Amino acid sequence: MIDTHCHLEQKDYDKDRDVVVAELRQKLKAVVSNATHAKDFDKGLEIARAHRGFVFLAAGIHPEYIEEISEVQRAELFEKIKTHKNEIVAIGETGLDFYWTKTSEWREKQKQYFKNDLAFARNLDKPVTVHARDASAETAQILEEVGYHRVQWHLFHYKELVPLVLKHGWMISVGPMLLTSKTLKKIVRDVPLNQIMLETDSPWWGGRDITGASQRGTPLNIVPVAEKIAEAKGVPFEEVWAACGENATRFFDIHR
Ligand SMILES: [Zn+2]
Repeated sequence: MIDTHCHLEQKDYDKDRDVVVAELRQKLKAVVSNATHAKDFDKGLEIARAHRGFVFLAAGIHPEYIEEISEVQRAELFEKIKTHKNEIVAIGETGLDFYWTKTSEWREKQKQYFKNDLAFARNLDKPVTVHARDASAETAQILEEVGYHRVQWHLFHYKELVPLVLKHGWMISVGPMLLTSKTLKKIVRDVPLNQIMLETDSPWWGGRDITGASQRGTPLNIVPVAEKIAEAKGVPFEEVWAACGENATRFFDIHR
């Protein structure tokens, strides 16, 4: 009952964030909100503090934002993360994004920063939330090379990596993509329940309304995801709901 990956600091929630969180508290035990840009950190921390014990903060730099963040801003952000490490449950997002980044120069930079982030996380004794869009093989290669296994694969949907997930005990987190992807359904069938967490990546993945306009997602969207996992595995919903929640509590070391 924990949404292990959303972005509550996004402006989509500016008008009614407290109302949204109050609603979430009715159904969920916690949410992990990711501030993934240097400019989002302060706001992310403020939100986690305002909802202490329910909203937990993960912080880092999304690979897609690397190009627009200067070395100075990067250093300042990581200094802040260090200072506030007791208020942060994970380093993330980190990883690679070859969908948005096409040049080899920036792809190489992403790889270097990813390795730095893994070393940083190890130093701080924190898990990492990894993004691997169109770069799953390269991401896995770096994780193996560095040998840091406290990994959440954000929006995992890489069938060919399932053997490595099993081998290294990586955690996969599964989001609303499961509702439409047959491949992902096979993946959740094959990965043991103790390696699966639920996520929504809200405000994204909110689906569309009847006019076709995209809607704001909410962490409550982990409910249909858990239902689909139960269906794929042929186990009761309650079992999935409880297990994924326990996995998240353990992975992020969330004690209430
Ligand atoms: Zn995200």
